[in-house]
Amino acid sequence: TPELAHASSLIASIPDFPEPGILFRDISPLLADAAALRTVVQAVIEPFTGSFDVVAGVEARGFMLAGAVAIAAGVGMVPIRKAGKLPRPAAAVSYDLEYGTAEIEMSDDLPAGTRVLLVDDILATGGTLRAAQELLSRLDYPLAGTAVLMELVDLGGQRVCGPVHTVFRV
Ligand code: IMP
Repeated sequence: TPELAHASSLIASIPDFPEPGILFRDISPLLADAAALRTVVQAVIEPFTGSFDVVAGVEARGFMLAGAVAIAAGVGMVPIRKAGKLPRPAAAVSYDLEYGTAEIEMSDDLPAGTRVLLVDDILATGGTLRAAQELLSRLDYPLAGTAVLMELVDLGGQRVCGPVHTVFRV
């Protein structure tokens, strides 16, 4: 649609950030545009309408999307945070980064059986979303689906944590 094409045009590509050789995709200009934000939020929700009870966002850029998606869908949201930030973490999963490892945590405040839509901004190698899915699985929350704004197709993330619903692909 023209609306999605306009939204896509607002994603900036920044060479050599955060390191030389990396082409960083910056969704901030898209989020700052009211029409584009509304369009992509609807596109994230669309395949999952009626099939989830809460949205989980992955720190930090996933938070920005998760709140908007939750309001638009009429549900609440929960944060999946970097280790050490939550006062009452119920489970933790660590995963490999390009250099070193990272760990994410989640609380278990949701009622048993709450169906979770997992969202993040970008699917790259898939390690982050794979870890988030594992976290939900450890806490026995059913995964309603996984969705991102943008997929970096060449990095093969779908093989690691797919199927992931992606609004834009590059
Ligand atoms: P993955 O674990 O390799 O799939 O990396 C995904 C995580 O890294 C997400 O939480 C993204 O926010 C972040 N990320 C990876 N590449 C980019 C990018 O080009 N722009 C913004 N965030 C990125």
